[in-house]
Amino acid sequence: MSPQYDAIVVGGGPAGLVTALQLERIGWRALVIEADQLPRDRACGEGIMPTGIAELRTLGLELTGGMPLHGIAYRTGSGATARARFAEGPGRGILRTQLSAALFEKVRSRPRIEVLPGTRVIEIFCDDTGSRVLLDRGEQISSRLIVGADGLSSFTRRSSGLALPGRRFRRFGMRQHFLATPWDDCVQVYLREDVEAYVTPVDRDRIGVAFLWHADRLRPEPAGRRGFDSLLALFPLLKQELKSARSLDDTLAIGPLEQRTRSPVALRLALVGDASGYLDAITGEGLSLAFEQARVLAECLGDIDREVSRELEGALRLYRRRHRSLTRNYYRMTGALLRITRRPALYERLVRALQAAPDLFARLLSINMGTAAFSSIPPGAALRFVAAFLGLR
Ligand SMILES: Cc1cc2nc3c(=O)[nH]c(=O)nc-3n(C[C@H](O)[C@H](O)[C@H](O)COP(=O)(O)OP(=O)(O)OC[C@H]3O[C@@H](n4cnc5c(N)ncnc54)[C@H](O)[C@@H]3O)c2cc1C
Repeated sequence: MSPQYDAIVVGGGPAGLVTALQLERIGWRALVIEADQLPRDRACGEGIMPTGIAELRTLGLELTGGMPLHGIAYRTGSGATARARFAEGPGRGILRTQLSAALFEKVRSRPRIEVLPGTRVIEIFCDDTGSRVLLDRGEQISSRLIVGADGLSSFTRRSSGLALPGRRFRRFGMRQHFLATPWDDCVQVYLREDVEAYVTPVDRDRIGVAFLWHADRLRPEPAGRRGFDSLLALFPLLKQELKSARSLDDTLAIGPLEQRTRSPVALRLALVGDASGYLDAITGEGLSLAFEQARVLAECLGDIDREVSRELEGALRLYRRRHRSLTRNYYRMTGALLRITRRPALYERLVRALQAAPDLFARLLSINMGTAAFSSIPPGAALRFVAAFLGLR
C-alpha cells in the first residue's frame, strides 16, 4: 500500500513550515504536525539575517511586518562599541508570531501541504518499507520520509537514537517585548561576563530584548518577570534606555541551547532546524540556518525516484554531508565567541579590535552566514585587528 504522504514534518516552527514549502517545490506531498496552535510564539531574538531573508524570498515570501536590520553592534560595559553593516543587504527584525503567521499562511495556500495543529507526535517508526508516526489521539499516519523539525528538545532526535549526550556550554535564553522607538537600525548586543543582552527592533514602536546566559555561572532565579529584571539589572546602560519603556508581554525562556547530534539523518528520517543540532544564538543564527537546511534537504531529494529506497538513502547521505558543511562556520564562530564571553578581558579587547577594523567585522558576519570564506579577509584589516587586539595601537 502506498504511504499517505511523501513526507511527514514533525513540528510547525519556522524550520518545519519552510521544509514543507521546500518539499512542495520539488513536488512532494507533505503533512506538518504541530503540537501547539499556529501561529506560535517562542523565545527568540527575532533577528533574521540577510541570508534567511534571501531564502524566504526564493519561496516567494516577502515579509511585510517588522523592521529592516542593517547590521550588528557590540557594546561593552566600558562603553566600547564595534559596529558592522551587512554586506548582503538588510536582514529583518520581526515578531516571532508575525513570522509564524506569514509562514503558516503561505503553507496553507499550497495544495500539496496539509497542516495538523494541536496534535503531538508520540512515536515514530522507520524501516526499509516506509515510516509512520503515532499521534497523541491514537491515529497512525504513514509516509516515505519523516522530517524532524521539532526544535531544541526534539522528540524525533531522541527517539531515533541521533541525540548525543554531553554539552560544552549550558546556556539559556529569555525574551520580552517593550513599547519603545528603536534607537538603532542594527541588532545591539550588550556584552557582560557570562550573559549578553540583545535588542532587536521589531516594529516602529517596539523592540525585543533577549538575554542569553551561561547557566552554570549565573542563575537568574526565580524565572519569569523577576528573572528578566534580575538580568536587566546587570546592564545599567540598557536599563537606563528602557527606563520609560512599557513591557508588552510576559517573558518566554528556553534552554539548554546546545544540542548535539550524531547525524542529521537516519533510515527514512532527516532532521532540520534546532532539532538537527544547535550550539547557541550568540551570532544571531538559527532561523537562517534552518531555512538553508530545509532548502538543501529538498535539493538532495529533488532528483530521486522517491519510490526507490536506495535513492532515498543516497539523498539522505548527501544531505548529511551538505548539512555538515553548511553548519561548519557557524559552529566554529559561535564556539569561539562563547569561549570569549566567559573572559571579560578578552571580549573587551575583541570589541575594541573590531571597532578598529569594521571591514573585518563585516567580513566575519559574512563568514558566519556562509557568504564569504576566511581566506577572503583583507590582510590589511587582519593586521589592524591583531594590532588593536594586542593593544599595539
Ligand atoms: C533567546 C534566543 C534568541 C535567539 N535569537 C535569534 C535571532 O535573533 N535570530 C535567529 O535566527 N535565531 C535566533 N535564535 C534561535 C532561533 O529561535 C531558533 O534557531 C529557531 O527558533 C529554530 O526553529 P525550529 O523551527 O527549528 O524550532 P522551534 O521554533 O522550536 O519549532 C519546533 C516546533 O516543534 C513543535 N513540536 C515539538 N515536539 C513536537 C511533537 N512531538 N509533535 C509535534 N510538534 C512538536 C513545537 O511545538 C514547535 O512549534 C534565538 C534563540 C533564543 C533562545
